Amino acid sequence: PSPLGPTPKLVIDLERLQQLPKDKAGPLARYAATIQSQRGDYNGKVLSIRQEDLRSLAVIYDKSPTELTEELISWGVLDPEARRAVESF
Ligand code: C2E
Ligand code: C2E
Ligand code: C2E
Repeated sequence: PSPLGPTPKLVIDLERLQQLPKDKAGPLARYAATIQSQRGDYNGKVLSIRQEDLRSLAVIYDKSPTELTEELISWGVLDPEARRAVESF
């Protein structure tokens, strides 16, 4: 196992996401809303998503998963710990 512990989860900060301009955050906001609706998970401040979903989001944003992760960290939507979650890609 990694000396840094288990692979961290990808946790989206939903409050931060709401504060961002729509042209940037729109696709991610719609994706997160779809997952919330599928789970019936409406009241969270954060949303844990699948690693597989980050791959899909990277296609949507026309970036590599690593590039998208850096962008989401710079927006404050993902924690810097998320870098370790995409290392395994
Ligand atoms: P599903 O993929 O067939 O999963 C059925 C149920 O298995 C989920 O019901 C959940 O209770 C559990 N489950 C599956 N994978 C995980 C996991 O990695 N962690 C945890 N904690 N539980 C898991 P739930 O949550 O009501 O979701 C219903 C359906 O909504 C899922 O059916 C899936 O089709 C979709 N869904 C929910 N969350 C996500 C997501 O984060 N990403 C994607 N791509 N689909 C999701
Ligand atoms: P954690 O994964 O570190 O999550 C901490 C808290 O962040 C959760 O407290 C919850 O308030 C919030 N959170 C994280 N992801 C989501 C999300 O997708 N939706 C919502 N609405 N909130 C989220 P909570 O619920 O009291 O859970 C405490 C701990 O229990 C979690 O710590 C985790 O270790 C475990 N846990 C809860 N649900 C699951 C699950 O579906 N799968 C697994 N493996 N562990 C879970
Ligand atoms: P988690 O619940 O702690 O699950 C950690 C990892 O265990 C998942 O990473 C996945 O690889 C595996 N896993 C857990 N439950 C299942 C399952 O029912 N079926 C399969 N095939 N694998 C499972 P992953 O996919 O990257 O998901 C990360 C986190 O996103 C999960 O942590 C959970 O908090 C959330 N999540 C993902 N899918 C769902 C879902 O369908 N429903 C809910 N409520 N939460 C989900």
